[in-house]
Amino acid sequence: MNEAKPDAIVIGAGVSGLTTAMCLAEAGTRVAIWTSEPTEATTSMAAGAMWGPYHVEPLDMVTAWSSVTLEALQELATQTGAGVRLVPGVEAARHEVDPPSWGNQLDGFRMCDRSELPPGFSTGWRYTAPLVDMSMYLTYLRRRLDANGVQIHRQRVAALVEMAGKADVIVNCAGLGARDLVPDPGVFPVRGQIVVVKNPGITEFFSEDTGAGEDLLHYYPHQNTVVLGGTAQPGSWNPNSDPETAAAIVRRCAEVEPSLGGAEIIAHRVGLRPTRSRVRVDSEQLNGTRIVHNYGHGGAGVTLSWGCAMTATKLALGA
Ligand SMILES: Cc1cc2nc3c(=O)[nH]c(=O)nc-3n(C[C@H](O)[C@H](O)[C@H](O)COP(=O)(O)OP(=O)(O)OC[C@H]3O[C@@H](n4cnc5c(N)ncnc54)[C@H](O)[C@@H]3O)c2cc1C
Repeated sequence: MNEAKPDAIVIGAGVSGLTTAMCLAEAGTRVAIWTSEPTEATTSMAAGAMWGPYHVEPLDMVTAWSSVTLEALQELATQTGAGVRLVPGVEAARHEVDPPSWGNQLDGFRMCDRSELPPGFSTGWRYTAPLVDMSMYLTYLRRRLDANGVQIHRQRVAALVEMAGKADVIVNCAGLGARDLVPDPGVFPVRGQIVVVKNPGITEFFSEDTGAGEDLLHYYPHQNTVVLGGTAQPGSWNPNSDPETAAAIVRRCAEVEPSLGGAEIIAHRVGLRPTRSRVRVDSEQLNGTRIVHNYGHGGAGVTLSWGCAMTATKLALGA
C-alpha cells in the first residue's frame, strides 16, 4: 500500500482485526491496521482454540456469524500451513443437560452412550470441529494481509474521536481495549489461564460442559502439543499465570486422560476474554467519519471471527 491516506483503518491486530482487515482488503479497500500491542501479545494468541459459540449473545446473530466462520474454517483446514485442523472428540457433563443447538451443524454429531464417557460423567455428545493453532493461524492471516499490501503499525489510539478524518472509515476491533477507546464500560475481562504440554499421543479433544463455572476442564490436541484448560474468571485483570491454578488445571485434565498428568509442560498462557453482554457489530458517525465496531466477543472470538468480519465489512462499505 502506498503512504497515501488509507480508505480504512482497523484498530486491533487480534483475530477480529486481522480477519476484518482481510475482508476489507479482499473487497478492494486500501486498509491499514493500527495496534497498541503486537499480535503475539493479544488475547487471541492465548486462545485454545476450538470452534464453539459458547456464552455469547445476541443468539440470532451469533448463530449466523458462527455458521459463516465454521464454513470458512472448514475450508482453511484443507490448506497446508493455515493452522486449522478438523478434530474429533467429546463434550460431556456430570449432570443431565441438553446438547447445544448448534451441534447438528458439525460433522459426525451424535449423542454418546454412557459407557463411552469418563467416570463421573452422565451426558455427552461427539462431533468433529475446527481446532485452530492460534500461533500458526495468526501468522497465516498476517502473511495473507501482507500479500494484499496491508501494513500493521504499532500505534495506540487513546480515543476514537481522535480518528475522525484519518480515513473514510475506522473499524474498532480493540477487544478489551474498547472499554477505554470508545469508551464502553460494558466491556470487561473474563480471565483465562491455560497450560500447554507436549502431546503424549492424544488425537481427540475433550471438553466438560461446566455451565457458568470458573474452573473449566478441556484438552485440545494440536499436532505436537496439547492445550489444557482452563479458567473463566469474570472481572480479573491478572495477566500472570498462577502456579496453583496451573497445577489444578493439569490435575483436572489428568483425571479424564491420565497420560496428561506426566506430560512435559511447555508453556503457561493467560488471556483476558473481551466480554460484553452482547457482541457489538454496528456503525455510527463520529465527527463526519464512519466508525464500525466489532468487539466484545468474550470466549468465542475465533468462532465468530469470519461472520463478524463480513458484517463489519458490509457496514464499512456502507451496504
Ligand atoms: C484462554 C482462552 C481460551 C480461549 N479459547 C477460545 C476458543 O476455544 N474458541 C474461541 O472462539 N475463542 C476462544 N477464546 C476467546 C478469543 O480468544 C477472543 O474472543 C478473541 O481473541 C478476541 O479477539 P479480538 O481480536 O477481538 O481481541 P484481542 O485479541 O484482544 O485483540 C485486540 C487488539 O486491539 C488492540 N488494541 C486495544 N486497544 C487499543 C487501542 N486503544 N489502540 C490501538 N490498539 C488497541 C490490541 O493491541 C490488540 O491488537 C479464548 C480466550 C482465552 C483467553
